[in-house]
Amino acid sequence: MPQLPPAVFVDNTALVGHGERLVVTDPSTGATIADLAGASADEVGRVVRAAAAAGTGDWAGWTPVDRGRLCARVAAAITADAERLADLVVRDGGLPLAMARRDVEAAARYFEFYAGLADKLHGETVPLGPGFLDYTVREPWGVCAVVLPFNVPMQMAARSIAPVLITGNTVVLKPAEQAPFAPLVLARICAEAGAPAGVVNAVTGTGAVTGEALVTHPLVDHITFTGSLQTGKRIMASAAAGMKPVLLELGGKSPQVVFADADLDKAIPTIIGSALRTAGQACSAGTRVLVERRIHRDVLERLRAASAALRVGPAADDPDVGPVISGPQRDRIVDAIRRSTSDGASVLAGGADAPVPGTGGYFVVPTLLDAAGPAAFAAREEIFGPVLTVVPFDGADEALRIVNDSEYGLVVGVWTQDLGRAHRLAAGARAGQVFVNSYGVGGGVEQPFGGYKRSGFGRLKGVAGAYEYTQLKNVCVALG
Ligand code: NAD
Repeated sequence: MPQLPPAVFVDNTALVGHGERLVVTDPSTGATIADLAGASADEVGRVVRAAAAAGTGDWAGWTPVDRGRLCARVAAAITADAERLADLVVRDGGLPLAMARRDVEAAARYFEFYAGLADKLHGETVPLGPGFLDYTVREPWGVCAVVLPFNVPMQMAARSIAPVLITGNTVVLKPAEQAPFAPLVLARICAEAGAPAGVVNAVTGTGAVTGEALVTHPLVDHITFTGSLQTGKRIMASAAAGMKPVLLELGGKSPQVVFADADLDKAIPTIIGSALRTAGQACSAGTRVLVERRIHRDVLERLRAASAALRVGPAADDPDVGPVISGPQRDRIVDAIRRSTSDGASVLAGGADAPVPGTGGYFVVPTLLDAAGPAAFAAREEIFGPVLTVVPFDGADEALRIVNDSEYGLVVGVWTQDLGRAHRLAAGARAGQVFVNSYGVGGGVEQPFGGYKRSGFGRLKGVAGAYEYTQLKNVCVALG
């Protein structure tokens, strides 16, 4: 068991908090792994002031290439310590060992990717004719607050810390209360790799106390929120009150569209992997499977066999599917399955009453639902658990209509041999990402990611993710 850090990381020092009590449990066993006090509102204030001071100190003089080298050192440190960090994610976040290793690897990749980008974020010149020199400069916002969810905690933190660093900002992370330790450890790794005091900071605690204190603090210049739609609305209201820019990465009910000519041997394992292997706890989980009616029965049977074969168990045993994050989250998922069946869905695998491993952890057996239609509860609501819902369709026009008949618009998967049809669907889909005959490439580090509609706005990852952490200044010089 790695040594657990305290609740606050500020000025490159770990400190205990003096705010609300926080009990963190291992989702695989229910055992307490930490009982600590979160950061109080006063402590959040101290951390934000440290971040603001650091932004105008030596850090402001660092060259882009040196900020990139810092990120490269962080990537190397993460890779060197990968097994210990994966072990932390297994206990803290309940991710099966293989997925925890992937989480750590993706975190290292973010630092590696942005290390290479640091000295390539150019401004432009604007042609106004011979009398003027007009150019643009990308400048940092200042103090960036980054409020994080509990799932895949290493990459969620890394995908903001790395672009924040190369663009010359400072950051205060607010990890999720259920899985706070991975971001705290990452902050310490940044310090050990040479980040100046106050540049990378973290405050652990509840959303209501620590999170609110952070996003409403007047010295915070920019807010990145990744989490639920409900909390996103609150954060946006706080941002509006403070007139702060906000980047919202929210939920999804992402469809996987399977046409009759699809290569099912490739599609089925990918669909199962995306929707169930993180116990459904991924914003991009493709949990809505739209199947062309001709192959509906065949696909249902293949999905049933594949879901029923998944091994469920404690994360450290490296099962196919680990626990969900907490007891209340498990109860919400089981309620959603019950509500789906009372709404007409049939259970083809798993279900609310399926027996779970008796380890004391928070398990839900992977569940396959045949929904009554696209308007059914299970086909519309983000359940954030291992629940896959199948809906039949007839033809490409109906498929596109169902894809877009959702309040969310995060990711779409299309499975077909007909690339013309795939491109037409990609063009018509109101979603931030479309995958054709695949679903995800590594951690998607290089690909701009974000939502349409109520899945949010703004983009993380890729080059676009770095631009989000800059504001553009135009300078116009009359040459006289
Ligand atoms: P959540 O909204 O419950 O919590 C997210 C974070 O917000 C936590 O750190 C919490 O403490 C904090 N918070 C809560 N209330 C707050 C407040 N009033 N002020 C400031 N902070 C506050 O989400 P969750 O349950 O941790 O995560 C699951 C959700 O996250 C799902 O909806 C999922 O789809 C979404 N998610 C989206 C992405 C994406 O990139 N789009 C990635 C991962 C997860």
